[in-house]
Amino acid sequence: MQIFDSHAHYDANAFRADREEVVASLPDKGVCGIINCGASMQGCYDSIALAEGYPHVYAAVGLHPEDLLDAPQDWLKQVEQLLSHPKAVAVGEIGLDYYWKENAPREVQQAAFAAQMELAAAHDLPVIIHDRDAHGDTMELLRRHRPRGVLHCFSGSVEMMREAVSLGLYIGLGGAVTFKNARVPLEVAREVPLDRLLTETDCPYMAPVPFRGKRCDSTMIAYTAAKIAEVRGITAAEVLEAGVRNARELFGISG
Ligand SMILES: [Zn+2]
Repeated sequence: MQIFDSHAHYDANAFRADREEVVASLPDKGVCGIINCGASMQGCYDSIALAEGYPHVYAAVGLHPEDLLDAPQDWLKQVEQLLSHPKAVAVGEIGLDYYWKENAPREVQQAAFAAQMELAAAHDLPVIIHDRDAHGDTMELLRRHRPRGVLHCFSGSVEMMREAVSLGLYIGLGGAVTFKNARVPLEVAREVPLDRLLTETDCPYMAPVPFRGKRCDSTMIAYTAAKIAEVRGITAAEVLEAGVRNARELFGISG
């Protein structure tokens, strides 16, 4: 049984003490692929370095809406330069976050999101999208730009999922589907076409039950997959297999 983690942050401080050990051990535990997503500019460089260090790690580079205010002035140019790296397989994570009041103003976030979708199109790469409390504006920008990519940690309704899928997007589901209050995420997990589903962690965050609140890593996707399988009436192996197949297809990674 193999696991593909389409969204991880192994560059995060939570892994500072044992990063090498954890990342190196994952293939022996069934993890065959990881997309490490940049968020800050430094995170983008660290993602590339991790991808260079391990055959099973790939990098997404892009500026997260929470990191825009601290970004260097030429961040877009720096992101573009990193995209020429052979293991840079996506632009991400990018998007809109209206939850935190201290984030960049909405217009600034929207402009950065749009600019990075254009960058992805120019380089023929998919995007990894963060959407927190910004469903309406996210969908409007997606309709306009029509990127290939994934809505990571999907938190919208079944209707929004259906529209995203009709736009050609994938739906990333992680630990949130195992949480006690996960009614809508479970409806989405049941209804999403199996060939549009990506498995992910967002580690070190979002550990699934029974590890909720602990440091997450890619192996815990087994618990998320079991929950998705339960509501779909299929096996966890089928969910994991779809996660591997779909991620390889979206990110252009050969098995
Ligand atoms: Zn993330």
